Amino acid sequence: RLYNEVQELKGNIRVYCRIRPFLKGQNKKETSIEYTGENGELVVANPLKQGKDTHRFFKFNKVFGPSSTQEEVFLDTQPLIRSLLDGYNVCIFAYGQTGSGKTYTMSGPSINSEEHWGVNYRALNDLFHLTQSSQDTVMYEVGVQMVEIYNEQLIFLNLHTLGIWNTALPNGLAVPDASMHCVRSTDDVLELMNIGLMNRAVGATALNEKSSRSHSVLSVHVRGVDVKTDSELRGSLHLVDLAGSERIDRSEVTGDRLKEAQHINKSLSALGDVIFALAHKNPHVPYRNSKLTQVLQNSLGGQAKTLMFVQINPDEDSYAETVSTLKFAERVS
Ligand code: ADP
Ligand code: MG
Repeated sequence: RLYNEVQELKGNIRVYCRIRPFLKGQNKKETSIEYTGENGELVVANPLKQGKDTHRFFKFNKVFGPSSTQEEVFLDTQPLIRSLLDGYNVCIFAYGQTGSGKTYTMSGPSINSEEHWGVNYRALNDLFHLTQSSQDTVMYEVGVQMVEIYNEQLIFLNLHTLGIWNTALPNGLAVPDASMHCVRSTDDVLELMNIGLMNRAVGATALNEKSSRSHSVLSVHVRGVDVKTDSELRGSLHLVDLAGSERIDRSEVTGDRLKEAQHINKSLSALGDVIFALAHKNPHVPYRNSKLTQVLQNSLGGQAKTLMFVQINPDEDSYAETVSTLKFAERVS
């Protein structure tokens, strides 16, 4: 099996749940996840085992268990990413409390370990190979942009054109930052990603440590021109590592921390409202309620495809957060 058929991803909004494994060195704790079914079913047990809600049942398009690999996750994501080249707009989110594996899924633990690359490196790598191999029929331009959203402010980390294989291409993408990168290998793609990461470290040192309290958006814009007919297709892909969804106890935080928490709450619920409205085909979609939904407006809704990774922790200490995360996902799916 190379990758699942695109057919499987016909629906416009999909939700995958991923359960993080217990980590090395973590005391072996009890898990609240009792059962991971084949059909995207998941049962979460209340550790207190009291009251009538001792077990909660959820259903997703797919559940990835603790031993799932980055490759397996990507195989079920790849068709969506490839639809970018057919002119679709695609948004992929990772949602969950801090420490639940959002960054692991989207980026991986380290850029240097190819085996553990997350969705974003694999996606760029895949797109790079596809656009290269179709050069005889379609000429592609690829632009990559990294943006952080912190306290409702946008911080641009880079904006580069990834590759142009025919410099005579008419009406090139308007790229505000004129640095051009001709990509010939996977290493070039990685280098480009590193530039973004470095800008993040240099330009926003404080932001780096606040990464769990900011949304990180990697956008890929593709323009393809058919060599024979000169017809043009545009598609965009947004890969979003969301801020941690944990509830902050209002009685315990003040000042900056409280402000951050309020901004995160506001933007995550705005995102939930938008996806909910789209899923229920509501005539009014409230895009304007946060920077996050404004940035993503063009690629949420309409013909766009959305995938949400709902990340959860296995241990029973996380029970309350896990249930609240799963409920968020249930609402939007
Ligand atoms: P988040 O971005 O949601 O705060 P991270 O992605 O940083 O969470 O994950 C927290 C820790 O758990 C990291 O050390 C990460 O490498 C590890 N981790 C997360 N998911 C997995 C996984 N599926 N397999 C192995 N380690 C994981
Ligand atoms: Mg993270």
